[in-house]
Amino acid sequence: MKVAIVSESPADEAALRRLIDGVLGLAVDVIPVAIRHDSWPKVRNVLPSIIPAVYYQTDADGLVVVVDCDDSPVHEPQHDPHLPENARCRICDLLHVIARAMQRLKPRPVPRPLQVALGLAVPAIEAWWLAGVRHDVSEASWINARRQGTFAYLRPQLKEWLYGTERPTLEHETATMIRAAERIQRGQLLLLEQLFPLGFGLLASQLRGWTVPEEG
Ligand SMILES: [Zn+2]
Repeated sequence: MKVAIVSESPADEAALRRLIDGVLGLAVDVIPVAIRHDSWPKVRNVLPSIIPAVYYQTDADGLVVVVDCDDSPVHEPQHDPHLPENARCRICDLLHVIARAMQRLKPRPVPRPLQVALGLAVPAIEAWWLAGVRHDVSEASWINARRQGTFAYLRPQLKEWLYGTERPTLEHETATMIRAAERIQRGQLLLLEQLFPLGFGLLASQLRGWTVPEEG
């Protein structure tokens, strides 16, 4: 199965691939995405170009998009993307962007659909990689603190806990994320989903709904 992965850094994408493998129960082939997309606004802005590029120029079966929540509202299943009150929700926003891009597509050279799955890392992807290491890092901790107008933790703290430093080198960051993703893939996917039921649960449930082509 061939999958294109769009997130906020190549390190994120290398690690996310392990989670996708784990949820799907197979080893996906990753289709590289050539269009630059290394932050939330860029991912959002280039997605309308990435979708037709992946759809027409590759034989990818799926496209996975994972963005950080930062301090935006956490997407919930009952959100109506059409309501203005959900305009700041990044997943509702991406659902709009994706629907518009998909509407413009014509039949594809390869006879298979392009399936899409979205995930939201709350508040940042480092939080996911801390599952099984720090039990105080979860969507519930984050959301409860935000309701009280405070922060359960900030991104530099998550980096310190994960990497042992707030400023890891790219090599250290990539190796640490991949190690954490492999640990989670081996036996902590359920825990990750329990700790992050909205943002990771969304991704996992969409992936489970994908049709897997018969030949890998
Ligand atoms: Zn939403």
